[in-house]
Amino acid sequence: MNNQITCTRFAPSPTGFMHIGNLRTALFAYLLAKSKNGRFILRIEDTDQVREVPGAVDVILKTLELIGIKYDEGPGIGGEHGPYIQSQRKHIHQEYAHKLVELGHAYYCFCTKERLAEIHDSCGGYDRHCRDLAAEEIQHHLDRGDPYVIRQKMPLDGSTTYVDDNWGEITVENKELQDQILIKADGFATYNFAHVVDDYLMGVNYVMRGSEYVYSTPKYALLYDAFGWERPHYVHLPLLNGKDSEGNIAKLSKRHGSVSFLDLVEEGYLPEAIVNYIALLGWSPSKGQGRINNEDINEEFFTMDELIDRFSIQGLGQSPSVFDYDKLKWFNTEYIRRMPVDLFNSRVIPSLKEVCPPTIDFALLAQLLQPRIGTLAEATAMVDFIASRLPLDKEAYVNKKNKTTVESCRAVLEQIEPLLDACEEWTNDALYAVLKNYSTDSGLKLGSILWAVRIAIARKIVTPGGATELMLVLGRDETMARIKQACAELND
Ligand code: GLU
Repeated sequence: MNNQITCTRFAPSPTGFMHIGNLRTALFAYLLAKSKNGRFILRIEDTDQVREVPGAVDVILKTLELIGIKYDEGPGIGGEHGPYIQSQRKHIHQEYAHKLVELGHAYYCFCTKERLAEIHDSCGGYDRHCRDLAAEEIQHHLDRGDPYVIRQKMPLDGSTTYVDDNWGEITVENKELQDQILIKADGFATYNFAHVVDDYLMGVNYVMRGSEYVYSTPKYALLYDAFGWERPHYVHLPLLNGKDSEGNIAKLSKRHGSVSFLDLVEEGYLPEAIVNYIALLGWSPSKGQGRINNEDINEEFFTMDELIDRFSIQGLGQSPSVFDYDKLKWFNTEYIRRMPVDLFNSRVIPSLKEVCPPTIDFALLAQLLQPRIGTLAEATAMVDFIASRLPLDKEAYVNKKNKTTVESCRAVLEQIEPLLDACEEWTNDALYAVLKNYSTDSGLKLGSILWAVRIAIARKIVTPGGATELMLVLGRDETMARIKQACAELND
């Protein structure tokens, strides 16, 4: 196996949205393959047709595209090991299941649903009733067209061990293993069988997935053994937990907030920030054997290429990691701040345009927002006062630090209105000069003037940017209209 090219896969079931946990599995499997110049396959595991959710495949494809994971083989692009939609491999699974029956490691089971329900309570599983049926009896059932499933014939004693590249040696007692179903009555293979056959036929030599499969993997390893195939490397990831608002830690679920990647994007998180953050959940660059020298072990920011360069199985951990929204928000804020201006503008301006009047200076507004927001979605919330004139809030004019009152602001606004109106150039320097000169002439503190103007045009206390910046964003006409309106209202 040493000379083989590394091949990993992501094998999601299209049973819903793309959970953060699945995304991490996809990411790590991709990073493992690419860090070793290997292949990465996408396979859709849809043999459980009852659980399939319409549109789920599109969500998977869209998610991978947004985070920049490019698969070498998979649905849509094909490859030499297709088809990559598991339900289209039904005949292959059946062929291998029958082979396994011939090899004596699987058997037909004709038990009816009623019988299975009856015995389930007494033995907690399947009682192996059909495991040793005589050949004639089997033939008789088949000739009659009786429905059947195919079950794996587990060894009855001893134990099975496999070595996980992350968790070490894992052993289960064979008596704990059920004769699990490989082919269901509808002819489709179960996950338990289909993924083993497909991984083998697709040349997957590193099976990386969530920790929930650690203790079922011996069953899969036995299938490889039964076929006489070389087992792949197994790499199970640590559990991913969530933290609720009270700080309680439990398996990641909706209770902890959005756990779907696309929901997070919808809420204004950047795909690259999400990827960066989840890469650090269960993997640590300092533990790895990255190929870059002079590693800064406190480094936290990684592009996809840097992650590929640094990734190694040695960097994985076993203890559960916690998906923490505060930490994600921190990453997102940092990513937004570090974004090149053009890129930030291109991401935020379209949504600003949806809520703000077309006359405002969008590029300037975006620049006021960039250092102040934690998610892109916060941008639209923060510009409510630009989108429309907020209701009058007289109290906002009162400010202790600047010693302003409603009355003092009214007086300032009345005097400043004609001065601003006469300002020829609508630039930051010119507007600032008007306010500064007025401060000098009137003897009023500049701070109190800026306060009055800013509240008059914004009608709220906290704004991105100061008075002159907001005047520029709004433009001359809207600014003057708002100041005039403020004068009228404060006179009432
Ligand atoms: N279809 C399985 C799942 O979505 C894949 C598990 C595996 O990677 O083997 O959980």
